[in-house]
Amino acid sequence: MSKFKTFPKGGIHPPDNISSTGDTAIRNASLPTKAVIPMSQHIGAPAKCIVNVGDTIEEEQIIGESAGYVSVPVHSSIPGKVVEIKDIYLSHGKTSQAVVIELGGEFKRMGKTQQAKSWSSLNDDEIIKKISSMGIAGQGGATFPTHVKLILPEGKDCDYLLINAAECEPYLTSDQNLILEKSEEIIEGLKILKKLLTPKKIIFAIENNKMASAKAMSDAVAESDLDVDVEILKVKYPQGAEKNIIKSCTGREVPSGKLPLEIGMVVLNVETVFSIYEALVFDKPLVERIVTISGGAVKSPKTLRVKIGTTYRQLLEECDGLTEEPVKVISGGPMMGFGIFDLDTPVTKGTSGILFLTKKEVKAAQQTSCIACGRCIKACPMGLNPSEMNKLTLNFLFEEAQDMGLLDCMDCGSCAFVCPAHIPLVQSFRMGKNQLRAIMMEKKGANR
Ligand code: SF4
Ligand code: SF4
Repeated sequence: MSKFKTFPKGGIHPPDNISSTGDTAIRNASLPTKAVIPMSQHIGAPAKCIVNVGDTIEEEQIIGESAGYVSVPVHSSIPGKVVEIKDIYLSHGKTSQAVVIELGGEFKRMGKTQQAKSWSSLNDDEIIKKISSMGIAGQGGATFPTHVKLILPEGKDCDYLLINAAECEPYLTSDQNLILEKSEEIIEGLKILKKLLTPKKIIFAIENNKMASAKAMSDAVAESDLDVDVEILKVKYPQGAEKNIIKSCTGREVPSGKLPLEIGMVVLNVETVFSIYEALVFDKPLVERIVTISGGAVKSPKTLRVKIGTTYRQLLEECDGLTEEPVKVISGGPMMGFGIFDLDTPVTKGTSGILFLTKKEVKAAQQTSCIACGRCIKACPMGLNPSEMNKLTLNFLFEEAQDMGLLDCMDCGSCAFVCPAHIPLVQSFRMGKNQLRAIMMEKKGANR
């Protein structure tokens, strides 16, 4: 039996391909000459644009105000002039208003020595306000506004603060490289969170194919006065899915339709913890992030520190372009990411990777009929029946699919990965969930 913990149901073992992303150094990407900064980079209400064409903008200036409780502000990643405000397509296919800023003028922060600030005298409200005003949203891909996760409802305690560094999607190396370079800063971020949440236990969870990063974190913990369990988890996809990592580390189960807080858990991605550190110690908003540029079609794959609003096209050039025409370009990981068609798509707060995949990597194959082999059921970590749910959604029986657990599906793609008939199950479930939400909204409206 493996000595590493894991979740009990389903899961798959795709090749991790992390060594194909080059060395472990994080390099600074060149500044964009034009940054395209969307107002919708987080789950919830898009930020409200507060600048106009022709305005001069400072580095890190707020250009979009938070538009509600589940929302965060958007800051400019570069100084310059607003040259256009337009609607653009984001990587997941939805549209957003975006501010186009042409680079110009002085940087307030970049290239200058920064004075660290003490956060220890701040009270809980001040810490939450700071995290919210710095525009921090979950950087593991979900982009849920972080301050919302950190406000404990009346009567609820945080038993566990769980830091998710599983990074279980193949190819992606951003988190593991960040840990190698910034483990002390991550510890400081954890101290801030400890003061805020007073968790009974802090767990830092990472998979056993990233042992150098796990050691860096264990060493940083040993040198600090912070009590953190560095938990090494078995490599199994989707180990990093929130419900799975909770189950793997604590044995607790998040009830269907509920949030982790219901069972005393706060789960944060490791890069988000680093951003909290930068926000509290340097007053720095979320204007840049780490992005993995990889895949067999890229000449020189890299892990880059990228200003929000930089286009995918520019990052491909930073990696010396292509060796061959990719058959698929993906924003995020190959399992849960979104295929994109426009290289002028900008990097946002949720862009963990950009993959340029060859025909061999994509294993493109003709779709055939379901042969009722049951492999998808075995692979599903949520214990669902993907084959049956797919039949229901394709027949527009969305509420019947809901009864089978459609809303518990986390789009992990494990079922589609093992399907010998190459049925696009995840696309079917994403469509089904969108339809279901529309039906629910309509019913809610009719009942008012
Ligand atoms: S995509 Fe949904 S149905 Fe398929 S394995 Fe993942 S959770 Fe199960
Ligand atoms: S894995 Fe594919 S072919 Fe097999 S039962 Fe599921 S949907 Fe059908």
